[in-house]
Amino acid sequence: STTTTPIDKLHDLSKTSYPLCMRTLHEALCTNSHLRNSGRMQYGLFLKGIGVTLEDALHFWRDAFSKKTDGSAFDKKYAYSIRHYYGKEGRQTNYTPYGCQKIISSSVGPGEYHGCPFRHMDRDSLCQKLTSYGVFASNMTEILDFAKDAQYHLACAKYFEVIHNKPASKPLLHPNAYFAESRAIST
Ligand code: SF4
Repeated sequence: STTTTPIDKLHDLSKTSYPLCMRTLHEALCTNSHLRNSGRMQYGLFLKGIGVTLEDALHFWRDAFSKKTDGSAFDKKYAYSIRHYYGKEGRQTNYTPYGCQKIISSSVGPGEYHGCPFRHMDRDSLCQKLTSYGVFASNMTEILDFAKDAQYHLACAKYFEVIHNKPASKPLLHPNAYFAESRAIST
């Protein structure tokens, strides 16, 4: 994307326009003032994909970590990896944001929040999360059943439909495509 997304909007956008995988990471980051490496990478590359600049990204992550990690510790331990996502360190690989297939097939350990919630969360936790996000009865059963049947994209599409009160105009196979579609129909 060539349009930039200001970081003061991320909190609202996480509720209105993020797919569940990224909303989950954003929420875990805010709650814990921390994300482990795989989560930082999945979310950090998504942010890059929605047009958060490197400068804003460094600001955002430093601030999000600040309850547990002071600025100089952040700069020592984490700033490198953020610059890395933007191709500014190491071999200067220009990393692209992860698509659903990669996210769905990732392995997620205890205390980690990356991955696809429709694939990686157990039914009860997923139900609890969706309830807290305002998803009710019949929609809930449909989403949970899609997830159980490994129809993760259909679960995600239904979540999109519930959040936006209308379905997406096309299949969304990438978190950044989900975001773009949400922004396109919301503005
Ligand atoms: Fe994220 Fe894709 Fe899973 Fe939706 S289907 S929650 S966009 S990984």
